[in-house]
Amino acid sequence: MEKVYLDYSATTPLDPRVLEAMLPYFQEKFGNPSSIHRFGQQAESAVETAREITAGVLNCKAEEIIFTSCGSESDNLALRGAALAIREKTGANQILTSRAEHHAVSKTAEQLERYFGFEVKWLDLDPFGRVDPAVVKKAINEKTALVSVMAANNEIGTINPIPEIGEICRHNRVIFHSDAVQAATYLPLDVEHMKVDLLSLGGHKFYGPKGVGALFVRSGTPLLPVLTGGGQEFGLRAGTQNVPYIVGFAEALRLAQSEREKRSAQVSLLRDRIIGSILEEIPDSRLTGDPKDRLPQHASFVFKNVDGNLLLTLLDAAGYACSSGSACKTGNPEPSEVMAAIGLSREWGLGSLRVTLGSGTTPEQISAFLQVLPGLVNQARSLGGK
Ligand SMILES: *Cc1c(COP(=O)(O)O)cnc(C)c1O
Repeated sequence: MEKVYLDYSATTPLDPRVLEAMLPYFQEKFGNPSSIHRFGQQAESAVETAREITAGVLNCKAEEIIFTSCGSESDNLALRGAALAIREKTGANQILTSRAEHHAVSKTAEQLERYFGFEVKWLDLDPFGRVDPAVVKKAINEKTALVSVMAANNEIGTINPIPEIGEICRHNRVIFHSDAVQAATYLPLDVEHMKVDLLSLGGHKFYGPKGVGALFVRSGTPLLPVLTGGGQEFGLRAGTQNVPYIVGFAEALRLAQSEREKRSAQVSLLRDRIIGSILEEIPDSRLTGDPKDRLPQHASFVFKNVDGNLLLTLLDAAGYACSSGSACKTGNPEPSEVMAAIGLSREWGLGSLRVTLGSGTTPEQISAFLQVLPGLVNQARSLGGK
């Protein structure tokens, strides 16, 4: 049986060209970028080239790029680092963030509230899961230290109006962070156009390695390091740089930028076929997220009275690796926060399915998938006994 991977929003395989670029830095060019000697210089020059490539894609200065260990760390550094530094500077102690953020943002915000005395205001979503700029405009005030709104949602694929939200933050002189970890493969990442002060990226969502990320920090943005120690990364992130992974991160990002249109065109046709077919063939099914402003590789649904985890198990047994939006705990399945935030009841929200495409997806795989899915949804419905 062919195993078909339809979960590219969870992670992507490493592009062979990226692996090629990384390999010399494991053994032959193994130096520590902080060392004075030529081994160190060679490693430092690789890191600085990677920084320039990354800055080129983001349309910023090289010294505005901080390499981290993952997208989650970038989010942590952005939120915790900026919140603490801004409060020290201005006294502002409120964080505005959306109800659809990745846990790397939402759990960090919750910790800042519970243990560090910040106040968190959760921005409501529209039924497509989008943060309306008018909601930000209404909520922002002189106590706001930081606004954090993701560029594109991992569960439901919705793209947020980042430049408009950025404009509101700028007008109010409030620092604006966006988690672009999910957006990076398919959306342009120009930080001037997006009007962001902080932007998070993670390598493994765009065919780079796992365990490496980056944070754009606009010059002048107050930021306290979260990882203290040596002076690496302009004193904002201590620890010897992971040279091969940073090289791989930059090469993968460069390829994502140069092949963006080609990759989008390849997946979006298949995505539209999936959406059309599922909504037509499967009773009591709905698309989640924005029908128009959504990531080109991303199709997400809910099925009424279906246990999403059961459906995933049936799909896996049939050879298809998909995902659900909900982070269900065994024994106590709850719909994810995002399902509730877009107004779905429990009987709908528990039955979520996310199908995300990528470089290895073929039309034949999608045809076969669409053949088996209606039967499996039926099966999950009758087994679920609801
Ligand atoms: C995957 C993801 C993250 C976390 O990135 P890691 O590199 O896995 O830590 C954060 N935010 C979003 C939107 C993501 O999709």
